[in-house]
Amino acid sequence: MPRGERAFLAAAKGADGFIPFALPDIGEEEIAEVVSALRSGWITTGPRTRQLEEEFAAFIGGGAQAIAVNSATSGLHLALDAAGVGPGDSVITTPYTFTATAEVARYLGADPVFIDIDPATLNIDPSRIERYLARNKRKEKNIKAIIPVHFGGLPCEMDEILRIAGRHGLRVIEDAAHAIPALYRNSLIGCLGSDAVVYSFYATKTITTGEGGMVVTRDPEMVRRCRVMRLHGISRDAFDRYQAETPSWRYEVVAPGFKYNMGDLAASIGIHQLRKAWRFHRIRSKMACRYNEALADLPVVLPPRAKLGDVHAWHLYVIRLSDKAGIDRDRFIELMAKKGIGCSVHFIPLHLHPYWRSRYGLKPEDFPNALRAYEKAVSLPMYTKMTPGGQERVITAVRDILG
Ligand SMILES: *Cc1c(COP(=O)(O)O)cnc(C)c1O
Repeated sequence: MPRGERAFLAAAKGADGFIPFALPDIGEEEIAEVVSALRSGWITTGPRTRQLEEEFAAFIGGGAQAIAVNSATSGLHLALDAAGVGPGDSVITTPYTFTATAEVARYLGADPVFIDIDPATLNIDPSRIERYLARNKRKEKNIKAIIPVHFGGLPCEMDEILRIAGRHGLRVIEDAAHAIPALYRNSLIGCLGSDAVVYSFYATKTITTGEGGMVVTRDPEMVRRCRVMRLHGISRDAFDRYQAETPSWRYEVVAPGFKYNMGDLAASIGIHQLRKAWRFHRIRSKMACRYNEALADLPVVLPPRAKLGDVHAWHLYVIRLSDKAGIDRDRFIELMAKKGIGCSVHFIPLHLHPYWRSRYGLKPEDFPNALRAYEKAVSLPMYTKMTPGGQERVITAVRDILG
């Protein structure tokens, strides 16, 4: 086994007392379900994927329909396509996100328009969207949609965003990769009246299928389009073909679709992860509380809290070092690593990456709030398998370095 791989596995197992930044929480139920799927002989999209879709739709509620996909990236691509985004269009989003949020616009020949974040919440700033739209006539740029990202699991100002979208005739596709589960004004993210909401089951997210994602929408036309485009533009999916009366070899291709279906092995994991979503959430919330209380006196900005009526998903616990910390962010992460603790940075703003920077001629100062947040941000380890003792070790390490 190559050295690097061994080190990674050791880290993933938490060997040598190393506390990784994130770790999936897979129980015996998930393992047994995968094994029984393997034994069943049905290992691509089938009954378990269908079950996960039904249970996810019920989890979200309010008449949601759920479409399982092999990643949130695929889901965002399908949702934008189904929302009618195409060549020459633009979509508004935040620079303070993972590149997937914006790259899906490029898949469709559209362009992202970045709008800076509110430095208090780290989420896209609705008043800046409004000002942008007032300055730039929507039609000139063919602005079609807004993709808000609930950064770290803190809900965006959705009332504002939906109101702006309504006034300007824009579609809203929520990137809810961090938001299982989160509430905005007592409603679950997924129930707010957007056109579609996309969740991620990537390995580090709050619930996981290894790789996977889910699109939720209540628009029957979007459901139909997502289902067709998810699997080669075929009007019937593999499971329909297996179940229905018409012979299974007969299908029609109605569009040049994609290969974005979730398989039953991933769905097997997802079925049990979803049932634990609220339990996982309680553990994460308690961890966030403990960090908040233990780090309050240090020269850091603690993560923004959810407003009254909102619930934070606590996918990430992001602190920002203040100027008084007397240490820069990169050095802080190095020292944490020396103490056997893995930290991360969410996110390197998109406008600092070569592709986005050069394609749109962007400068670091174009999005000063995202830039400032990035320079100071550190994501501390947070995962449900971390023991209270492990968390105390992280706290002690942070206090040693900053205290
Ligand atoms: C993880 C993530 C994605 C992509 O999720 P995948 O399931 O890996 O495709 C999209 N947006 C944000 C904000 C993410 O953090």
